[in-house]
Amino acid sequence: MHKMTTCPYCGVGCGVDADILDSGSIGVKGDKSHPANFGRLCVKGSALHEVLGAGGRLLSPLINNVPVSWDSALDEVSSKFLRTISEHGPDSVAFYLSGQLLTEDYYVANKLMKGFIGSANVDTNSRLCMSSAVAGYKRAFGSDTVPCSYEDLEKAELLVLVGSNTAWNHPVLYQRMQAAKKKNPSLKVVVVDPRRTATCDLADLHLALKPSTDSELFSGLLSYLADQDCLNHDYIEQYTEGFELALTSAQQQFDSVSAVAKYCDLESDILTTFYEWFAQTEKVVTFYSQGVNQSFSGTDNSNAIINSHLATGRIGFEGAGPFSITGQPNAMGGREVGGLANQLAAHLDFSSPEYIDLVSRFWNAPNIAQTEGLKAVELFQAIEEGKVKAVWIMGTNPAVSLPNTHQVTRALEKCPLVVVSDCMASTETLKYADVCLPATGWSEKDGTVTNAERRISRQRSLLAPTGEAKHDWWIISEVAKKMGFEDAFSYQHPAEIFAEHAALSGFENDGNRDFDISLYQDIDIDTYNSFKPVQWPVTQEAPYGTARMFSDGRFFTPSKRARFIPIQASSPIQQVTPELPYILNTGRIRDQWHTMAMSGRARRLFQHRDEPFVELNQADALKEQISDGELVKLSHPQGDYIGRARVMVSEQRRGELFVPMHWNNEFSSLAKMGALLEPVTDPISGQPESKHGRVSLSKLNPSWQGWLMCRSDLEINLPVEYWSKVPKGDVTFYYLADSVELVDGIAWCKEHLGDVSIWLEDPNSQNFRAAGLKGEALEWTFFVMPYGEIPSTRWLEEMFSEAELSIDQRRFILSVTGCEIENPGEMICSCYQVGSNAIVEAIGLGSRTVDMLGDKLKCGTNCGSCIPELNAILAKELK
Ligand code: SF4
Repeated sequence: MHKMTTCPYCGVGCGVDADILDSGSIGVKGDKSHPANFGRLCVKGSALHEVLGAGGRLLSPLINNVPVSWDSALDEVSSKFLRTISEHGPDSVAFYLSGQLLTEDYYVANKLMKGFIGSANVDTNSRLCMSSAVAGYKRAFGSDTVPCSYEDLEKAELLVLVGSNTAWNHPVLYQRMQAAKKKNPSLKVVVVDPRRTATCDLADLHLALKPSTDSELFSGLLSYLADQDCLNHDYIEQYTEGFELALTSAQQQFDSVSAVAKYCDLESDILTTFYEWFAQTEKVVTFYSQGVNQSFSGTDNSNAIINSHLATGRIGFEGAGPFSITGQPNAMGGREVGGLANQLAAHLDFSSPEYIDLVSRFWNAPNIAQTEGLKAVELFQAIEEGKVKAVWIMGTNPAVSLPNTHQVTRALEKCPLVVVSDCMASTETLKYADVCLPATGWSEKDGTVTNAERRISRQRSLLAPTGEAKHDWWIISEVAKKMGFEDAFSYQHPAEIFAEHAALSGFENDGNRDFDISLYQDIDIDTYNSFKPVQWPVTQEAPYGTARMFSDGRFFTPSKRARFIPIQASSPIQQVTPELPYILNTGRIRDQWHTMAMSGRARRLFQHRDEPFVELNQADALKEQISDGELVKLSHPQGDYIGRARVMVSEQRRGELFVPMHWNNEFSSLAKMGALLEPVTDPISGQPESKHGRVSLSKLNPSWQGWLMCRSDLEINLPVEYWSKVPKGDVTFYYLADSVELVDGIAWCKEHLGDVSIWLEDPNSQNFRAAGLKGEALEWTFFVMPYGEIPSTRWLEEMFSEAELSIDQRRFILSVTGCEIENPGEMICSCYQVGSNAIVEAIGLGSRTVDMLGDKLKCGTNCGSCIPELNAILAKELK
């Protein structure tokens, strides 16, 4: 049976055609009818079926780690919340939500906290992702309105990608951009990013600007547009306000292109080319993401971009507009219901008593919150200070993802009541939970999500809930009922919640608010179940949705005019010092998602990057005497990080480092990037400055390095300085390193792994190899050898699946030559398991284009996520 649903990873919101098989497993492919992806999926979406199953799931409610009935767990949560509120007031409790929740879950949580508990202490991990974009839109448009559609990316003549590694983080949109450029070679692409990322493969121009100078780049553009007489005076006159102040501010700071170039550390001619292209092209989309948002000046960055579009009137028509792309699958749905602490509901906020009154009357909630609540970073500080005494965390892992993770874990340790709802049993945050509530996972959930182009789609239930898992909206509603709010939370089906959400969006709206889906206020279950993707607003006047906003030049400010915002240049808070001389950039990689709670279950998603790493420029590597592949340590007074050095020739600017955001204590000994980041936030949006940390860098000098393969995961308590876990096939692989000399390998194995069945010692080369068998089957292998000599482990992986090893197989277990068969090199194409060695060989044999490589090896022919890397290998090999 086929069901159409949506991918739970990034904000592209791809439609998934799920084939539910009789065996209980599912097959996935792209939904050809979904307007976000038209059948495409990236590697993460293609591996969705690999993250299913009961393994690793939280299966029943727990109180203090003891399984209890749902009734007991709900009693515990509701009674302790009630007691805390009665003793310390409503602001002593809080919810911390996730962009992974469905809109219906989000709506109920927000309604309970803001409407009935009477506090606005409900924030979300979307605060870390796009809250600066929200604040920027609200300042400019009077509303949190994304003006564009994905098709604008294809209709544009100039695409400006700012702070976005689209190729890795929004791969299907990147594929759409690639296809558009192929169809229309005159489409120009500019990438604005301090790093040369895979996205630059598509770029006609790459501006590798100094980190955190985005707003200055766009202020300079505004000044240039005025100088060159390229402003749209009619548009400015008719539809905007505040232009003169914004222009004066820009001109006072930057009176020439060379002044901007100097500030942003760019070459003048490259910057001039970008400015000329922007000035001369009518259809421009500026597409921006975390590189813009995760900054002390993220809101200003957004507004500097929007200013340039307003000044040229490039908004509200096909192929034009300032387009913020969300990171998470339902960050937009969270925004719609008011899931941020400074929002109220349905795109209303606390700025007017009339808004509060309106929502209060609609919900029949006389105890509604009157002021904004605590934003994410403030919230965890308030928990540590003892001001917030009960927190309920849903579907997110703040112990890994927030800045200054040590502070977050201190806060959670100290908090009298920590409730965590999650589908997984083992996240770092769960370790601090007094009450654990099993929530349904992606394949079980049922509701709606909104992607980055305002398109609402259904996420449909494919499989029955695992164990005793329940839907988040149900869990919250049951707690609400036990708290005495029975009438307001008596939902029986998510369609009822969606209908109420739709009704609120239209309640006393009269066209004054952007978010309006009131056409669905009476939706029934059948219609909800057959819901087709649609872009809001959806009203009587626009029953098929709205592709593009502001086509009429009418905005949602009091004057109905868009606002220019004067932008002042400013510097990042986390400035380098002699003790912390490197700028730290953080971000996502191609094949992993957030803190790996889900993607870490799909073994093939580890093949692209299998260890935490640090990217650095080769000049810095030379200075610090670090070679590619060596282990390095990043240090900050808050915490440390260990990863494998990836030395870059030109992709990484000098003095700047990049680390991935994903690894944590579940997968590596010391790889939480949040431990290195200070809790610095944008003063308007509250979004952390995650793209500009500061650290010191040093080489780790382990006495030995090695690797371990086990049939099952170890409870990691190995006394080593560094370990990193890599799920491989049916076994688990660990990289190991330690500064303490391994004096007696056999004794070490006996103590930590069990009986040693066979071993090989070479005192001259420091190499040591051992294996343990259980009966006749292989249980573990342990090899001590330099990192650079680690061979392909495919042959050994196969040995673990043998129930009984032959004499010859035993003989070869400790032989590295046995393992060297079919070394694939770095895994480039995760879909078809094509490594760099095969690709290099095929190029040598005459495959000189990506298409030819695809014909020969199939690489790049499924999701296409690896095409930029294929191009990079081609460029290197054919040079
Ligand atoms: S681009 Fe990939 S991760 Fe994002 S929604 Fe589509 S399939 Fe999922």
